[in-house]
This record gives sequence, structure tokens and C-alpha cells, in this order.
Amino acid sequence: MVYESINPYTGRRLRRFATLGPAQLERRLARAHRAAAQWRATSFAERAAVLHRTAELLRARQDELARLMALEMGKPLRDGRAEAQKCASCCDYYAAHAEGFLADEEVTTDGTRSYLSYAPLGVVLAIMPWNFPLWQVVRFAAPALMAGNVGLLKHAPNVPQCALALEKLLHDAGVPPTAFQNLFITNEQVAGLLADDRVRAATLTGSERAGAAVAAAAGQHIKKTVLELGGSDPFIVLADADLALAARTAAQARLINAGQSCIAAKRFIVEKPVVREFTRLLVSHLRQLRYGDPLADTTDYGPLARPDLANQLATQVADSVALGAKVELAGGQPHPGSTRFDPLVLSHVKPGQRAYAEELFGPVALVLTARDAADAVRLANDSRFGLGAAIWTQDVAQAERLARQLENGAVFINGLVKSMNELPFGGVKKSGYGRELSYQGIREFTNHKAVWIK
Ligand code: NAP
Repeated sequence: MVYESINPYTGRRLRRFATLGPAQLERRLARAHRAAAQWRATSFAERAAVLHRTAELLRARQDELARLMALEMGKPLRDGRAEAQKCASCCDYYAAHAEGFLADEEVTTDGTRSYLSYAPLGVVLAIMPWNFPLWQVVRFAAPALMAGNVGLLKHAPNVPQCALALEKLLHDAGVPPTAFQNLFITNEQVAGLLADDRVRAATLTGSERAGAAVAAAAGQHIKKTVLELGGSDPFIVLADADLALAARTAAQARLINAGQSCIAAKRFIVEKPVVREFTRLLVSHLRQLRYGDPLADTTDYGPLARPDLANQLATQVADSVALGAKVELAGGQPHPGSTRFDPLVLSHVKPGQRAYAEELFGPVALVLTARDAADAVRLANDSRFGLGAAIWTQDVAQAERLARQLENGAVFINGLVKSMNELPFGGVKKSGYGRELSYQGIREFTNHKAVWIK
């Protein structure tokens, strides 16, 4: 296992980092354990001041953070700056609301007084992916720190400089160095941490494979997990939708982060009367997007984060085409081994093809034809995943009825699915369990303690 930065646009290796030895890891864990007792004793006001300073630093350092993301995983600068700003808003949000979210809750019982209090759990291990190298971490760290927990981070091996920059930023903002630590460790060392009683819980954002492995290891040691896993989000377009706006938004939704987003719309399920026109518009919007160096301001989408990810996506497409999928827009890799992957649209995608069943983690859009609204819901639910969903129609009452039938953690009507501080974020089925953000997110890693007084 190697932690190294390789620029996916140029293929140049930038930096390498050694993993921690066993004695170093033990020292870090012991420090985190000690820090847990001290950090939980601080007041909400003290922690909020630190989180507000974190937000200020995220805004002040957005250019350098965006540059690191561009260099390590290919995100265009504009998007990287937006990610840093979004992280800042999350820190401000929890700084402002954590105390209210975790205030005691009175309950009526046979006692004179009963209430719930929310106490921190202690050390929480966060295992994170590379696609939003700051946001995924901050979405965990801001509520966890405000709740009085301390964090250990095991980031993806291709974004080590982002991990270090964020760790430094938190320390500069006043988070005690022992209350948030980045660890360059192997998956075996992660298993060791999960087995250690000083680690009280774990959260993982990533693939189904990683989620299953970490949850199984945590389960063996009776340890709570939150899993934010993959998605193959449906984007339902009914015949009465504003087709021009839906198609423009569809292109944007599919190309979020060059298509490497769990909540990017992936399956466009369109009612039959408008499917040809929708496909034409979608293809035309996708054609206009410009590929380029993530460091250039003119770039709409950059390379995929690693060549093996682009190769895998190309194979998923080729296997599906061999079984009858039709190419409506011929993008893809210019040659195997390239990280460039141009937007590609497939129709005639059927059960039995990989594209129908698997997550396509890159700029490949599937257009599926639905006979009617009920058929659209059937197709949307015919997936192992259940993260987000979008419905486009002028009939909002009907959309709300359909939303209740969808097996997804979020449904957005006439808009693209996004994560926001105020709404809980998470999935059902193989997209995982538990929620981040909102008040549900901050309560995940707390002890919901019932107090009863005679
Ligand atoms: P990944 O390969 O599953 O890696 C995610 C993290 O898990 C990495 O740090 C990885 O480290 C670690 N990991 C993998 N196997 C592990 C094991 N057995 N024990 C301990 N750690 C392990 O995912 P990715 O390719 O980075 O990210 C893409 C996936 O994440 C997609 O499926 C996407 O949909 C999903 N995702 C979900 C959300 C959400 O909020 N639901 C958000 C973003 C991304 P190593 O690489 O060192 O193994």
C-alpha cells in the first residue's frame, strides 16, 4: 500500500508518503484516546469558535486547496474552490446549530422528569474516498468535533496531500493536534483499529466492497458504523416536464466531478413520448463540454482520478454494448490506460448488461425508456442501490406521490440531487445506512442516553 500523489492529467508522480509503523500508530491512538476525555470537556462555545475559524481558513486557503485537488485527483479549480467553500459552510452550520441539535430532550414517563441527553462516543475512525477529498472528510469532522468526539482519518491513498492540508488547517484553526489526526495506514491497520476498544465507532464513504469489509470487521467488535456507499441514481423525466431545463440539468448532474460522484444522476428514465427529444438534447449539451487540464480555468471536466478507474469504466461499457446497448454519443477513452474519458450516452440498456446493474463511476449516461410513470418507478427501484433520485414533471402533486414509492434516501423534484447541510444525506439498500448532515448526522456518533428521575 502506497500513499502517493500522481497527477492524473499528466501521469507525473508528485510525492510519496510512507505508512506508519506499528509503534507510531499505537502512539497516535493513545494520544487520540487521551484527547477524547479533554475535548469532550470543552464547551459548545469553545468548539464553535474553533469551527468558525476552520471555516475562515477554508475560505482563505481555497485556492491552494483547489490546486491540490486538481493535482491529485483531477478536479477543475473552479469546482475545487466551490468544494472548499461548501466545507466552510458546513463548519459554520454545525458551529451555529450543534448545541441546539444535542440539547436535552424532555420525555413524558411515569417519573417526575425524564429526558434524553446526547453524549459523545470518543474516538471515531473515518475512512474516506478521493472523489471529494475535502468535503467527505469535513462532512464527518465538523459534526463529530462539535459533538465532542475526536477523529482519526484514513484517507484514500491517492490524495495524501489533501489529507495533510486539511489536517494542518484544522490544527491551525485550533483543533488540538491530538483531537484530529490523519493516519497513513494500510487496510490491515484499519482492521487493527476497529478491533481496539479505544476506537468507539467508524464511518466509511466509498464502495460497496469497502463498506462490507469495514462493517464486518466493526461488527465483530460490536462497533457502530455509518456507511455512505455507491449509487446509481435515477433521474425520471415525465412527458410533461420542462424538457429543455431537464436535459440541461441532466448533463450537469451526470458530469459532476467528471461523473465520479455517488449522487451524480446515472440512469435517465424517460417517458416514451419524449425520450428521443430528451436524448437529442442531452447529447447536444454533453458535446459542448470542454475537456482539459484541471489547472486551467476554461476546463469543464478533467481526467478521471486514476487510469485503472477509466479502464474499468470502458470495460463496463464495452461489455454492455456487446450485449445490445446502443451508443448514442461515442465518448470514452481515446486508448486503454488513458485517464481521459469523454461523455458517453447509452440507450437500449437492459437487465443482464453490466450497465443496467452496476454503478458507472464516470461520465456515462444511460437512457431508459418508461411506458408511463408507474413503469418509471419500477425501473428506478430495479437497482441494488438507493441513494438519491430526481423526478421532473410539471405535476408536483404527482411527483410527491411517486417520491413516496421510490426506494432512495433523497428525492429531488425538478432539481438535481445535492447534499446540503440542512437535509440528512444517506442511502438505503446497497447505498449504505445511517445519515450525515442535518441533526440526524450529528447524533449518529452520540450516546442517546435516557435519564429517568423518580
Ligand atoms: P473505495 O475504493 O471503496 O475506497 C474508499 C476508502 O475505503 C479508501 O480510503 C479505501 O482505501 C478504503 N478501503 C477500501 N477497502 C478497505 C478495507 N477492506 N478496509 C479498510 N479500508 C478500505 O472507494 P473509492 O473508489 O475511493 O470511491 C468511490 C466509491 O465511493 C463509489 O462507489 C462512490 O459511489 C462511493 N461514494 C459514496 C458517497 C456517499 O456519500 N454515499 C460519496 C462519495 C463516494 P484503499 O484504497 O487504501 O483500500
